[in-house]
Amino acid sequence: MIFDPIDVLNDTESKKEMTILGHKGDVHVVLCSNGQDSFYGFMFYCEFCDCVHLHGPREGHRDAQCTNKSSPFLVDGYILTTNKDYPVDERRLEND
Ligand SMILES: [Zn+2]
Repeated sequence: MIFDPIDVLNDTESKKEMTILGHKGDVHVVLCSNGQDSFYGFMFYCEFCDCVHLHGPREGHRDAQCTNKSSPFLVDGYILTTNKDYPVDERRLEND
């Protein structure tokens, strides 16, 4: 799935979906889309901040860009991937 971050910000609620694939340890694994043209990198809509976070095109752990101080991502950051089959720990999502 590829989308324009500007579209996501301005478009319908249907695009405002965040996919947390699971966890590695205590870190959330977040499914990203690849940008194109004006932005080349990983991006995802964050429902805690109600905006799109943009990162460089590299799989792995990052510090969260969240501006919402109650975002759970701020504790441990997040792991970004574009692979929906990214291996996560066998653990249920809790309170997410
Ligand atoms: Zn956020």
